[in-house]
Amino acid sequence: MIEVAGLTKHYGSRTAVFDLTFTVRPGKVTGFLGPNGAGKSTTMRMILGLDRPTRGTATVAGRRCADFPDPLREVGALLDAGAIHGGRTARNHLLQLAQGNRVPAARVEEVLSLVGLAGAAKHRVKGFSLGMRQRLGIAAALLGDPPVLILDEPVNGLDPEGIHWIRQLLRGLAQEGRTVLVSSHLMSEMALSADHLVVIGKGRLLADMPMAEFVERHSRQAVHVATPRPAELHALLERADLAYEVVESAPDQGVFEVRDAGAATVGDLAATAGVPLHQLFTQRASLEDAYLTLTADSTEFRTGAGAQPTGGGA
Ligand code: ADP
Repeated sequence: MIEVAGLTKHYGSRTAVFDLTFTVRPGKVTGFLGPNGAGKSTTMRMILGLDRPTRGTATVAGRRCADFPDPLREVGALLDAGAIHGGRTARNHLLQLAQGNRVPAARVEEVLSLVGLAGAAKHRVKGFSLGMRQRLGIAAALLGDPPVLILDEPVNGLDPEGIHWIRQLLRGLAQEGRTVLVSSHLMSEMALSADHLVVIGKGRLLADMPMAEFVERHSRQAVHVATPRPAELHALLERADLAYEVVESAPDQGVFEVRDAGAATVGDLAATAGVPLHQLFTQRASLEDAYLTLTADSTEFRTGAGAQPTGGGA
């Protein structure tokens, strides 16, 4: 188990992480999600004992990582894969790590095949693509067969096949009962691989809950309704005091999105007034939308106008 309590990190006057408290449990993939600059890497470095917290604590299995005699056998980590020394071969890089952590040399061959780098074992790392470096970094994380894994943006630089592979790998590691903490700035990535979500923005905790609950709580629901007599539907919705929006892409067809009522309410309302409906269905906002809404105030750099559709009458 990874336990983070009141974890805070200031860099000069800059607050990278503020009062974070959460627990990462075994047997699950926990997604650590947040926009770029949210403080994910800083938090992971503090958990791994590579950075000193200004306040608070981070422990793995009840101990500080810095106190582990053979850290690779306790916690496997992938941080900055680009930072691997380039002159060595993949095999030598892993052999050196294995020696320093009392891991048998035979394990090096095992992890090389596990990550699909057996054929490139004798090649120097400097010729590796970012995707191959990521795989090598993952091989290093798995070297000590650790019960806890901490991976910072592991899909970075991987092609679609590699991304699929990483997802399966994370699932498998969690199913074996390991504790898996994996960061990403992409909700789409987490939606497919995480069982539990910890979301941060500007160093602060925004959500900590099972993926299913996050979906339930944060995805907005809207009723999509189309009528050949839009003026009448307008009037009905206004009178019933329901928040709605006219879908601009279909102005002639009288397509509306109603925010705070179910399909039955809207359908009944139209039926009672004799207004014909050509479409009536419930639409869930995508998880991506939910994530963007949650983190909207904590994104450092925004692109575009950032216009958010708002409810309310036209
Ligand atoms: P993330 O991993 O979520 O993208 P980081 O943990 O890398 O976020 O960064 C969080 C914040 O801390 C950012 O504003 C970043 O600029 C700042 N930061 C990170 N490391 C340092 C450092 N060594 N010195 C100064 N500021 C830093």
